[in-house]
Amino acid sequence: MNIEQQGLFDEEEPKKQAEDIAARFIPEPVQTVSFLPGVKLEEAYPDFNDLEPLKKKALECQGCRLRETCQQVVFSTGRVNSKIIFVGEGPGSDEDEQGIPFVGRAGQLLNQILAAAEFKREEVYITNVVKCRPPGNRLPNPDEVKVCRNYLEAEIRIIQPKIIVCLGAAATQAVVDPRAKISQLRGKWLQRNGIRIMPTYHPAALLRNPNYKRPVWEDFKLIRDTYQSLT
Ligand code: SF4
Repeated sequence: MNIEQQGLFDEEEPKKQAEDIAARFIPEPVQTVSFLPGVKLEEAYPDFNDLEPLKKKALECQGCRLRETCQQVVFSTGRVNSKIIFVGEGPGSDEDEQGIPFVGRAGQLLNQILAAAEFKREEVYITNVVKCRPPGNRLPNPDEVKVCRNYLEAEIRIIQPKIIVCLGAAATQAVVDPRAKISQLRGKWLQRNGIRIMPTYHPAALLRNPNYKRPVWEDFKLIRDTYQSLT
């Protein structure tokens, strides 16, 4: 006896019908390699599929020595389903105070650049390589980046942006290559896993060296044009 139940609209091409149904249920490709160089997938919070619990996890993090000297963990700001992510280096003193990335002088300059390039700050996603302020605004050490970049990997996995803008050397080295030189790569589109990556100078570097303003503006025009072509 045939115990298989007939489909509601079974007709003369059951095999083709079965293929069509199967095609609709092709499983999502499983991510087998990390997006960021050197990250181990199993360490990058693979069970987190939303930013809110990931943020909660980060806010409780004691993963490296930076947490001993900062006031609070500064996770990210902006739209969680944005097509574009801006990645900075780490929080400074104002960010450490307020718990929000890019709110100090460099942040205000970033706001001006974003506005000039027709971005609304609340429509983009802004984060950092390390989420705790390095003491005295020193560069984050490689071992600190190694632990904290797992959050960035998870943020990229969850948000699935089309564009990542690396603001400065630390972000470029975390996202592109640990040996990358910002002076050689800035202004050039790179691509990985269908995501476009643009390294440019950090706004804090512009405050120190006004000669960087022109190249950064050229970079942001490219970023604006590519972003607008997506929408
Ligand atoms: S910098 Fe990152 S890894 Fe270190 S304590 Fe803060 S959140 Fe955790």
